Amino acid sequence: MFKINENYLKLPGSYLFSNIAKKVAAFSEANPDKEIIRLGIGDVTQPLAPAIIDSLHRAVDEMGSAETFRGYAPDLGYEFLRSAIAKNDYAERGCDISADEIFVSDGAKCDSGNIQEIFSVDNKIAVCDPVYPVYVDTNVMAGRTGIYDTGTETWSNVIYMPCTAENDFVPELPEETPGIIYLCFPNNPTGTTITKEQLQAWVDYANKEGAVIIFDAAYEAYIMEESVPHSIYECEGARTCAIELRSFSKNAGFTGTRLGFTVVPKDLKCGDVMLHSLWARRHGTKYNGAPYIIQRAGEAVYSEEGKAQLKEQVAYYMKNAAVIYEGLKDAGYDVFGGVNAPYIWLKTPDKMTSWEFFDYLLEKANVVGTPGSGFGPSGEGYFRLTAFGSYENTAAAVERIKRL
Ligand code: PLP
Repeated sequence: MFKINENYLKLPGSYLFSNIAKKVAAFSEANPDKEIIRLGIGDVTQPLAPAIIDSLHRAVDEMGSAETFRGYAPDLGYEFLRSAIAKNDYAERGCDISADEIFVSDGAKCDSGNIQEIFSVDNKIAVCDPVYPVYVDTNVMAGRTGIYDTGTETWSNVIYMPCTAENDFVPELPEETPGIIYLCFPNNPTGTTITKEQLQAWVDYANKEGAVIIFDAAYEAYIMEESVPHSIYECEGARTCAIELRSFSKNAGFTGTRLGFTVVPKDLKCGDVMLHSLWARRHGTKYNGAPYIIQRAGEAVYSEEGKAQLKEQVAYYMKNAAVIYEGLKDAGYDVFGGVNAPYIWLKTPDKMTSWEFFDYLLEKANVVGTPGSGFGPSGEGYFRLTAFGSYENTAAAVERIKRL
């Protein structure tokens, strides 16, 4: 009889979004006259920008003619896209990253889940708490996380770095040294950020201890303040300790179109072995490249037209973020995030648990958000609202919460 990967059985069910869906469906059925506003999920709602649509159309036409048809894309991505990324995302920010250190993919979720497989199962990982669940769950699947404690909802072999209002949502350097450190700034779910000096301390720590940082910058486009780094490679020494993940989902609305990339500098080594070679080998073996059409759409993100249109799109969501942030503050809530990120993280009032507040908001205001405890134990007592809805719905939801 074959054997399965039993690590999969260790995974606690991902009840967060299915629980939310069930509760919302039950409420809807019992109250068919109530109009529910959803500010829970992290998906975008604005259509693709015109420059991106034009580029998609042109690429589709190319695929219909023998002279311009393209088959398999290069494993690591088309040169036109890798050069545009290297120039716009890195060179223009003073970061020393070359096009051949960029690996184009179909998104940051896959990359953030797959990257762990180039590391030994003996590494201990460190994650922020609360956290984007993919980092932990994919390490569970690989057998790296030890035993799950249902009481504390933590894994025995994972270093948790609490990020709460008490430490301004900035993780402290852990006492025990991890092999792999996951950092995500601007952060999902807290919507908070880190300054360049704070990130530099992490880079220095990783270089000193021989750890690798996996830096998820999926929300980079939402950074509005000068002090916040857009890339970990703005920090000195990051080329020898950091991998960066990027996505086209939130800056350009590619959640359904799918495009992202990972940067692995050639200076990042374990002994003589370049992680770049391992990731190239992995990519070449298991991945056949993001579609030509989509990579052309990605190229349009860096055109002058595309940049201007996307700036407007990000501004649209950030106006929603400001409406939520200010509205909740006026209503007396303790509110965080929302300034350099499309997420607003609030403290639940009157010592309500995250789920109690979820029920309260659903029943009294008919507004759906995400309970903070779903992102980790330190998320208990917090709640996430997203700025990805329409302006009208967002403003209406905030008015309802204010009236409570
Ligand atoms: N990383 C973080 C922190 C996210 O919040 C998300 C999506 O919500 C992703 C990555 C996924 O990005 P993609 O759509 O490129 O797979």
